Amino acid sequence: MSIRIRLTLGYVGVLTAILIVFSAVVYTSLSFSLLRAVDRTLQDRAAQVGSVIAAQNDPLTVLRTGLIDLPALDVFSTPAAYIQVVRGDGSVARRSQNLGDQRLPLDADLLAVNLRNQPALKTLVLENGVRLRMVSVPISVAGQVVGAVQVGQPLTDLDAALKRVLVLLMVGTLVTIIAAGGVGLLMSWLSLRPIDRITQTAGRIVRAQDLGRRLPVPTTDDEVGRLVSTFNAMLERLDRLFQAQQRLGADVSHELRTPLTTIRGNVDLLRRGAATDPTELALALEAIEGEVDRMNRLVADLLLLAQAEADMKLEKQPVELDTLILQVYRQAQLMSATHFPIGERVSIHLGHEDQAVVEGDPDRIKQLLLNLIDNALKYTPPGGQITISLYRDQDWVRVSVEDTGVGIPSDVLPHIFDRFYRAQRKGRKGVGLGLSIARWIAEAHNGRLTVESQVGQGTTFTLWLPT
Ligand code: ADP
Repeated sequence: MSIRIRLTLGYVGVLTAILIVFSAVVYTSLSFSLLRAVDRTLQDRAAQVGSVIAAQNDPLTVLRTGLIDLPALDVFSTPAAYIQVVRGDGSVARRSQNLGDQRLPLDADLLAVNLRNQPALKTLVLENGVRLRMVSVPISVAGQVVGAVQVGQPLTDLDAALKRVLVLLMVGTLVTIIAAGGVGLLMSWLSLRPIDRITQTAGRIVRAQDLGRRLPVPTTDDEVGRLVSTFNAMLERLDRLFQAQQRLGADVSHELRTPLTTIRGNVDLLRRGAATDPTELALALEAIEGEVDRMNRLVADLLLLAQAEADMKLEKQPVELDTLILQVYRQAQLMSATHFPIGERVSIHLGHEDQAVVEGDPDRIKQLLLNLIDNALKYTPPGGQITISLYRDQDWVRVSVEDTGVGIPSDVLPHIFDRFYRAQRKGRKGVGLGLSIARWIAEAHNGRLTVESQVGQGTTFTLWLPT
């Protein structure tokens, strides 16, 4: 069952219950108070006649003769009240004119109550189905019940009025329920229509497998508007993840293809006889070794990025940065020596050197700095300089790696931290993962990695770590 139908049914159900209870209360209280009014008139009338008889010198004689002066019936206030005076044996002593030859029925229950010298009230149902309300008040002489004054009134008018009210209440309830059902259905349809549209659009997105599409955001800031915004934000994120995954797959296969082709080519060379020539053998093996190293680096970097993606937590401990930088400095000198022939080396210097201890993973910080130095060595021409410095401020510790290399054009700067991004495809080999890994390490330490660069003058990368 749809929400629309359920909402309407629930709403109509509650309304029906309320209306039925309301009608029942109105009907019963109305019939009760109308009957009370009839009773009061009948009791007044009976009391009036009773007091006339009691005022006589000899009520027994009066009863016997039936010469009782009945009060003129006020036809306007009690349109059809009938009065009769009965004796102790049940015979009628006197009756009001409007009764003609008829008599009010003798009811055993009423008489029984009267015999105990108590007034009695009862609704009798006559043979023709008419309801008659009767009051019977005992007449007693010296504590002895000798007769009764009975006043009766048919409830025809009252019953007719109550019937009309009942019909009105029932018809009113029915009409209200039907109208409420219609309005409820319309309102739930109107308020759920945007959800239908969301479902349709979402369905189209799924069918077309097009995560680039977005739902139209409604102008209202209500539940539906928020749902659409959240849904769009989710699509946006999925789209980005999906694209990143696709790019990663393409980039990785591309990066692996080049070394594999080189290795394959060299193996072919060796097959075709290069293995017998010591110089060519050495060259081929060196090329193969270089490519294997490159693939090794790539796989290690990818592993690290996968861990970064899985939100891997670092093993943090207090790290003496000045000591760590000294180790990095020594390793950098070694790298420079292996990369460049003597005379063409890039010189490595230690610049400003404060003392600082930070909470962090020493291996990762070292890896970050070596990535920066590796880049500096790659993009600095022979004879250039690389300076490593450590500054300690109040809130931050800054480690900078400054080179006098080729620099980075300003339009390229925003992209250098992207995965697999490489501005200079020619020249020394890299896969474009170094900086994105460096930035992840900085952020995993609640720090950041910034860059300043001038083309032809040099580049400075700065690692900021909180103290
Ligand atoms: P790569 O493997 O290509 O070095 P990185 O992510 O480490 O990948 O660097 C991305 C790009 O940023 C490089 O291709 C290069 O264009 C630029 N770059 C990084 N460091 C420097 C630097 N010190 N001087 C000039 N360009 C740099």
